[in-house]
Amino acid sequence: MSSALPGKLFVANWKMHKTRAEARAYAEELGATWTPVVGLEIVAPQTARELVVAPSFTLLDAARDPKQRWGLACQNVAAEASGAFTGEVSARMAADAGCTYAIVGHSERRRLFGEDTPVLSKKLAQCRDAGLTPIYCVGETAEERDAGKTTSILRTQLAALDGDPPEEPLVVAYEPVWAIGTGRAASPADCHSACTDIAKELSARPRLRVLYGGSVTPGNAASLLGKESVDGFLIGGASLSAADFASIAAAGRA
Ligand code: PEP
Repeated sequence: MSSALPGKLFVANWKMHKTRAEARAYAEELGATWTPVVGLEIVAPQTARELVVAPSFTLLDAARDPKQRWGLACQNVAAEASGAFTGEVSARMAADAGCTYAIVGHSERRRLFGEDTPVLSKKLAQCRDAGLTPIYCVGETAEERDAGKTTSILRTQLAALDGDPPEEPLVVAYEPVWAIGTGRAASPADCHSACTDIAKELSARPRLRVLYGGSVTPGNAASLLGKESVDGFLIGGASLSAADFASIAAAGRA
């Protein structure tokens, strides 16, 4: 494990999918499927599994678990605290709506909405002010990978964390762009190598968890999670099914 924190974290990124009725049905199914193994987790905290669902803002209430077997994340926050920013949702509003985590810098936000390092640094700061733990996404494109630039791209993207307080809990998701939604996951070895690089780059952070994301499925979860450096997953497509999300989160559990 790359962090001093025990247990693995699994985050379901629903992206722009589902209605409130669908979100409620999902929560019911996940609640019926997912059983935290509390006793075992006290004896062997490394086997603990933390689940988080990241729906659209309008679905937060519908996706909430009254029994708190999973937490909530938002998929984005505004770069500013408040003001005349039509259409934006602040980190404080997300926390007020029940989120404890916020995804920041997803490659779709970087690519489709032009989010760059200065904007992402501001979003990270907003998360801290609101008490949200960022799930900060990094990852190289296929071209960057082919050009042997993976390590330098990751380092450049991690620079957005330079002003982030190192003592705070932080989740970094390694999400190679070429693996997101393509059905082509990174190999366990590549995943291990990138997650290890990230943990080394952030070695001054005692409360770091490094996730992998990119075409994780119930079929490949156990082998990807077999690597010590991988503290869990950020899951897109497969997380839209409660049964698949639960199956991924149970992968390799002793
Ligand atoms: C993602 O969008 O964060 C992601 C990992 O998507 P997928 O699992 O569908 O590749």
